[in-house]
Amino acid sequence: MLSSKFQNALKYVVAAWLILSTLHAEAQKAWYSKSEINWETVEQPEHAPIYTIYLIGDAGEADFSKPAALKVLEGHLEKADSNALVVFLGDNIYKAGLPDTSSDERGAAERKINVQLDILDAFQGKIVFVPGNHDWDHWRPAGLVAIKREESYIEHYLDRGNTFLPDKGCPGPAVTNLTDNLVFIAIDTQWWLHKWDKVNVANEVCTAIDDDSFIKELDKVLEANKSKQIIVGAHHPIITNGYHGGRFTIKDHLFPLTAKYHNLYLPMPILGSIYPMSRKYFGHIQDVTHPRYRLLIKQLSGVFSKYDNLIFAAGHDHNLQYFAKERQHYIVSGSGCKTSHVAKGHQASFTYARQGFVKLKYYSNRDVLLEVWVTNDSIDNIGHVAYRKLLEHPTSK
Ligand SMILES: [Zn+2]
Repeated sequence: MLSSKFQNALKYVVAAWLILSTLHAEAQKAWYSKSEINWETVEQPEHAPIYTIYLIGDAGEADFSKPAALKVLEGHLEKADSNALVVFLGDNIYKAGLPDTSSDERGAAERKINVQLDILDAFQGKIVFVPGNHDWDHWRPAGLVAIKREESYIEHYLDRGNTFLPDKGCPGPAVTNLTDNLVFIAIDTQWWLHKWDKVNVANEVCTAIDDDSFIKELDKVLEANKSKQIIVGAHHPIITNGYHGGRFTIKDHLFPLTAKYHNLYLPMPILGSIYPMSRKYFGHIQDVTHPRYRLLIKQLSGVFSKYDNLIFAAGHDHNLQYFAKERQHYIVSGSGCKTSHVAKGHQASFTYARQGFVKLKYYSNRDVLLEVWVTNDSIDNIGHVAYRKLLEHPTSK
């Protein structure tokens, strides 16, 4: 006979295993809001798009021995013409950006960024890398120096002009005109969150130097371009159903150590909740609950709300999300090399924790077709569409 103690323990293990296997199966599935369930039947424009934008984020540690978003993206970019832009939405090099040449980590960091730069060989369109928190030396005091070093490395390696925006550790806004009617604006949200030195010796190169002037300058640039279609790209989302938005799973509460060590299923009920709960309710500086991050959200959404049809694209959480909020569109595309949990609902139209990227096709009538491309189960450079939505422009009808 088994002792009752042992039987109880066994029950607990079986129950935990059942919960985990359901959670695991759920994590593999895309989620659609009620209105988006029939997304596959949505009519697509007949004409070819006049411009295409690819959005990928958090691609700074790719592993090509598994199905990889970067490989699928490469397959798309090889076929694209010059009317295209690819944006890397930050966290371009894990874990601390590009260290200087004396560091032992330098070689590994170069390899992490080079695999991204090399997929752009045959691409004829424009390229933009924006900075993320990891690129700012893991948001530590030497961040400003690190971000300038990464900019200079990427721009030298690619030799395709000003491909890292905003320049020189400035917050932006950095404006790139894509067509007469379409504009891309890069901003550096880590600059906003950065607690350490970010006062540039070359401050004269920055159009904005503090919180106020940054928000005013952004508003000014949006106002000047309001007759055009606008897309703003940054690293930090202002709405997200991922960990940075405080959305944790039962697994994170019961087995907190799996966040760091994937297979360490050491049950720590109650005690284990302290970490996810503290991030949900207090947040660290990289989470939407932190006061400094909350202020960024308030300021950016305040400005964006004035401009109809604006698209804001970010990464940071390692999954794919789309929100239609008021008259703006919010995209999270942060599964460029890894995935993490994303919750359903909470105002989202679509969420999916799978490697991939977002493709935006712009048409002459100002409609935009949003497509989410994800990896197949086997390694290839083709992938498949997991979600599609026509963002109709009010004047297109
Ligand atoms: Zn990040």
